Amino acid sequence: MACDGLQSPTAAEEFTHVAEVAQLADDDGAELGPAVPTVLHAGADSRPGGRHHVGAEVEPADPTIADPSHHLGAGRVEQLLPAYYDFVRALNARGFVFMDFDGFWHADKAQLPAKLIVVRHDVHQRDIAPAYAMRAVEHALLAERSATYFVMLGFPPELGNTDVQQQYLDLITKLKADGVDVQPHISPNDLYVSQYQPSWGKKSLEQLHRMTDGDYTIEQYDDGVEITSVPHDPLDIRMINARFVELLTSYNQRWTAATGLTVRSYASHGSHLALNLILNNATMLDQRELIAAGVYEFDTYNTRVMNTLQYLSDNDELSWMDHPEQVADGQYQLLAHPRSWTPTLTAQRLAAATAAAEAAEAAAGDAQASGGASTRQQ
Ligand SMILES: [Zn+2]
Repeated sequence: MACDGLQSPTAAEEFTHVAEVAQLADDDGAELGPAVPTVLHAGADSRPGGRHHVGAEVEPADPTIADPSHHLGAGRVEQLLPAYYDFVRALNARGFVFMDFDGFWHADKAQLPAKLIVVRHDVHQRDIAPAYAMRAVEHALLAERSATYFVMLGFPPELGNTDVQQQYLDLITKLKADGVDVQPHISPNDLYVSQYQPSWGKKSLEQLHRMTDGDYTIEQYDDGVEITSVPHDPLDIRMINARFVELLTSYNQRWTAATGLTVRSYASHGSHLALNLILNNATMLDQRELIAAGVYEFDTYNTRVMNTLQYLSDNDELSWMDHPEQVADGQYQLLAHPRSWTPTLTAQRLAAATAAAEAAEAAAGDAQASGGASTRQQ
């Protein structure tokens, strides 16, 4: 048998030849790390921990997204990811402009539309199939260059899985052909630990806290952060930064070799590594020292991004996903994971919302009944 359909096995292998050092904890679906902008730069130990991710353990089996990449009839697009279709259409109708991160970053921030959605899609393995559907929705409803897809090609814990690497590449090939902005969804901490400190991957958060207690302070500036280590530097932050520059340079070269695309930006992954709760990927990539090295222009949690755009993330599974009228006029970074908008997860979300509303109604009824009883007693 000759080629079995793989478009570019050598490209997939670009990211698999270091798989032997990458046997770290698997990514089971939850996101850890920066989520709430108000605490994003509050300090190394204040990054939020566990991220709520409804139904993260259950893989959807939506027939509507099983083969979303080919031969979509116009009437079918709105059925692929109905909640996302309705969300985009509703905000579009209100005059929101949708923009990708490349367009946003290079725009004059003073000239940006007052109603703006800068769209970010983090694409993990579980998001690959619905990402095709998401692209179909955007192709149907939005202008070109309206969203950036941050794809998790080359994530160390997945490097042993050539099939997954190829699935990422197939998606990137499709998006590239459509002229879409495609950039890496990346965990520098995982790159670093897998390459240089495998034993850190096994340390608990408590162990790392004991190692680092009080030693790291994050200073916030208009254009990024600086991490200072006083009195001790048990993690050797200067060495980590030097290694990060090497690792990210190498990563970018492999990305370009595999995809033909140039890396300009990253979206930080909320890694499960305990280290990521001490020195978060987003904080690390927001360091002025690293940005000045010129390996990348910005991460999506960059200070200047967060100072301009409000953060609207479906990690929080909030009701706005199904009620776009709840999104006030303004300028936003929208983080939309393709999988979170599938019909299956949308149905689960709506059912949970209904159950919560019924429970609240029942509780209100009880309160009213007891209130009435106490009134009668008076
Ligand atoms: Zn992620």
